[in-house]
Amino acid sequence: MFRKILIANRGEIALRIIQACRELGIPTVGVYSTADRDSLHATYADDDVCIGPPAAAQSYLNITSLVSAAEITGADAVHPGYGFLAENAYFAEVLADCGLGWIGPPPEVIRLMGDKAKARQTAAEAGVPVLPGSGDPLSSVEEAQGLASEVGFPVILKAAAGGGGRGMRIVRSAAELEKSFDTAAHEAEKAFGDGSVYLEKYLEEPRHIEFQVFGDRHGNVIHLGERECSIQRRHQKLIEESPSPALTPELRSRMGEAAVRLCTHVGYQNAGTVEFLLDRDGSFYFMEMNTRIQVEHPVTEMVTGVDLVKLQILVAAGERLNVRSGLAPRGHAIECRINAEDPVTFAPSPGRLTTFHVPGGPGVRVDTHGYEDYVIPPHYDSLVAKLITHGSDRAEAIARMRRALDFFVVEGIKTTIPLHREILDDPVFRSGRLSTRFMEGFQARRERAEEGA
Ligand code: ADP
Repeated sequence: MFRKILIANRGEIALRIIQACRELGIPTVGVYSTADRDSLHATYADDDVCIGPPAAAQSYLNITSLVSAAEITGADAVHPGYGFLAENAYFAEVLADCGLGWIGPPPEVIRLMGDKAKARQTAAEAGVPVLPGSGDPLSSVEEAQGLASEVGFPVILKAAAGGGGRGMRIVRSAAELEKSFDTAAHEAEKAFGDGSVYLEKYLEEPRHIEFQVFGDRHGNVIHLGERECSIQRRHQKLIEESPSPALTPELRSRMGEAAVRLCTHVGYQNAGTVEFLLDRDGSFYFMEMNTRIQVEHPVTEMVTGVDLVKLQILVAAGERLNVRSGLAPRGHAIECRINAEDPVTFAPSPGRLTTFHVPGGPGVRVDTHGYEDYVIPPHYDSLVAKLITHGSDRAEAIARMRRALDFFVVEGIKTTIPLHREILDDPVFRSGRLSTRFMEGFQARRERAEEGA
């Protein structure tokens, strides 16, 4: 087992990893930028090291500083969390060269699945359904037009190197494609340093269904069921739940098997997520794979009883998976992402938490690095807390979420709590008839209600 784990991250996920390490009896090293001096992850880690100034490029993304921090503290493994260097194959390779353990998949698998176009081709090779289109980078607008007329509009242009909901463009006609193609490639080049763009069929009202997968070093691969993440704004997840209201046990096992097939095909190890779009007719298609722990992992933990972060560490240390694939979910769990943002415009709202009262009671879990008087720095993402509820069924999980949102008091900054309250009260949300276009319909219903009032 590892002697000491360095956590190359900040915020709630750094704390979550510290919790797992504490339970396993493994000391931790927290690293922080000068903007995060007062952060709980620096306080709760056994050792803490300042790794640089606020800009992430000079601190949380600074590989030299991170390796030095591991060396001076005697850490022998690194957990990257999510974001920052979590899907950086080069970082994983540097750690291996320095004799440090990496709590994640092999670098070559990260690299393969990190290229969305190559991942799509790999899924097709593994016999996993992909949307009509092509994973080959498009070299000209003529090629894009040819492919689009084969597939039929609407289509979506995607940056191979994209992520975080960025680098996608929906195109509804040949005239629009003419205009969008160069802009998309140019934007991809600017944002990701790689102008490769590919094209696939755009589905009008799919659900986003992703599967939690795990592999060990001994060739075992399992899945731990799905999360439905259809409630998104600007392609970014707001609310996640498990199980999906749309999945029958039969569909769950078919999708889960497809996810496992892909992971077996690439020799996957550690925690990962295979994302699918589920169409209204029940067809599902591979979308992408995330080769790390996800923000929304707690909903899976609540319905499976498996501590995914502990399992990541055990598996990275060479232990065999001791969990059965395809466990039937126990009850229902929902997660609301509480962001420091204006609930209407989604503009970031950093600043001091003058009041921070966290809800509790049956079936409530809060993963947060917030506390009263903590100042949210403007340099990083806006997630302040993840509010997760568990109930015997979806209705109870919703009732608990609704009550927990009322008891969550955050003052000093704006948060998405009021928005979550409204979504939880929305009849369409409650009915479980979700799609990735949910938020558009929700906004329209909200505007109509305001006009009527
Ligand atoms: P990212 O890596 O930026 O998260 P994804 O490929 O996972 O991008 O897509 C994010 C979201 O974009 C999906 O959850 C879905 O809402 C939408 N999306 C992506 N591809 C399609 C598609 N072919 N048809 C319809 N919606 C799509």
